Amino acid sequence: MSQVFDTIVLGGGIGGYSAAIRASQLGKTVAIVEQDKLGGTCLHRGCIPSKALLRSAEVYALMKESDRFGIQAEAVRLDYAKISDRKNSIVDQLYQGLQFLMKKNKITVFNGKGRIIGPSIFSPRSGTVSVEQEDGEILNLVPDKLIIATGSRPRTLPGLETDGVTVLNSDEALQLEALPASAIIIGGGVIGVEWASMLSDFGVEVTIVEYAPRLLPSEDEDVSRELEKLLKKRGVTIYTGAKVQTESVVRGAKQVTISIEQRETTQELTAQLALVCVGRQANIEGIGLQNTDVKVENGFIKVNEDMQTAELHIYAVGDCIGGLQLAHAAAHEGIAAAEHGAGLPTHAYAPHQVPRCVYSRPEIASIGYTEREAREQGRQVKTAKLYFQGLGKARVLGETDGFVKVVADEESGDIVGVHMIGAHVTDYIAEAALAQLLNATPWEVGQTIHPHPTLSEILGEAMLAVDGKSISF
Ligand SMILES: Cc1cc2nc3c(=O)[nH]c(=O)nc-3n(C[C@H](O)[C@H](O)[C@H](O)COP(=O)(O)OP(=O)(O)OC[C@H]3O[C@@H](n4cnc5c(N)ncnc54)[C@H](O)[C@@H]3O)c2cc1C
Repeated sequence: MSQVFDTIVLGGGIGGYSAAIRASQLGKTVAIVEQDKLGGTCLHRGCIPSKALLRSAEVYALMKESDRFGIQAEAVRLDYAKISDRKNSIVDQLYQGLQFLMKKNKITVFNGKGRIIGPSIFSPRSGTVSVEQEDGEILNLVPDKLIIATGSRPRTLPGLETDGVTVLNSDEALQLEALPASAIIIGGGVIGVEWASMLSDFGVEVTIVEYAPRLLPSEDEDVSRELEKLLKKRGVTIYTGAKVQTESVVRGAKQVTISIEQRETTQELTAQLALVCVGRQANIEGIGLQNTDVKVENGFIKVNEDMQTAELHIYAVGDCIGGLQLAHAAAHEGIAAAEHGAGLPTHAYAPHQVPRCVYSRPEIASIGYTEREAREQGRQVKTAKLYFQGLGKARVLGETDGFVKVVADEESGDIVGVHMIGAHVTDYIAEAALAQLLNATPWEVGQTIHPHPTLSEILGEAMLAVDGKSISF
């Protein structure tokens, strides 16, 4: 059996469903093929459930410190089952909303694993998606444009294969029914740091092991240093420049022992569980790419700036194309693919215009290049770094850790990068993103009137401080 659609999207995560909705808005007939649940990683195993848990951890940490605010809260204790229920209910509500959005936009959703086939009786071009439905029946969906949005899954290391009991990945950790007493987090990137911060706030004894010389190696070095200092102050043990000897992992019934090598010395770490956060790999196997001329490079589908693969009627978006594996990047790429497929001019994807957020405590948000990257590009740079300690709203909130750093090009005056670590910085990094999009100068952002007292004031001041013109700092 076969059906024809203008646009078929393989994978119903945020990249896929954003593409589908946009294509439908542009008058196309659209189908999504999803093997699991609409919403993908972001909704079910990523952004939303992890942030729900982080919020509970933040509330718990704040309540334990309530005395600072003149509030006596006695016998504060956490109920992880309830925390987990709250997370699940947020996900469920958003999942309902997403299903409604599909109906509202007249998008047909096929449940099942999709596989791309080559030229066939259904179409002279490759790109038809063959779906095995739950009842075993094969359905062939023939697109004018195909958008691949199959996402990614947790990467593992040989010897560190997860077992869901003492060695877990982030998918499995989200399903924990009780908190461990201790945890070793392998990998100090975004996901590892968020889990470390959350578990530590929940009272778990946390150790991070990172192979690179610093946490969050792709962020500005000043930010990594500040984060390490603040996490250590909260009791997190951190080993950077440390290699896990994967052959040495000993799994017991209720604990795991791991040897690490750091600066030529070896030591053993034992905890109730190890959480492996060493990146994510694209879901590109078993989807039929070999039946097409679509190219794969370093494990990711290769696309041009309009999200087209080597077969121009086949697009790919989101985590399966690599780059910044972020939900908002996937959504932007999905929309760009749908618009290009409909013959509209697209806003080309520019990595330096994509904000990056880490929801640790305190949060981290950045955009553009780090100071080191800017210098390596041969730029002369000027920088300003303002600390939250000097800001009224930060003092009011009792959240004075961290800073905002602006990197600007000495010659052109352009903003090259903005790097923030502090409470709620993820809430206003979009202002720096708008500045990047409009190619605004630090002076122009500094002239934007920021309401007082807000945390965002510091961004305006830091922009002015680049040229020594800050009023309040
Ligand atoms: C713990 C964690 C926290 C995160 N937090 C954030 C955050 O705070 N902010 C942020 O921006 N990003 C965050 N991310 C990253 C973000 O979740 C991803 O970048 C985003 O979900 C990628 O979207 P996608 O549509 O490309 O892929 P996915 O969301 O992975 O969706 C792909 C979908 O395709 C389906 N699929 C795959 N193969 C087939 C097939 N053959 N047939 C049918 N269906 C198929 C899958 O079932 C899946 O539903 C986080 C990730 C994790 C793991």
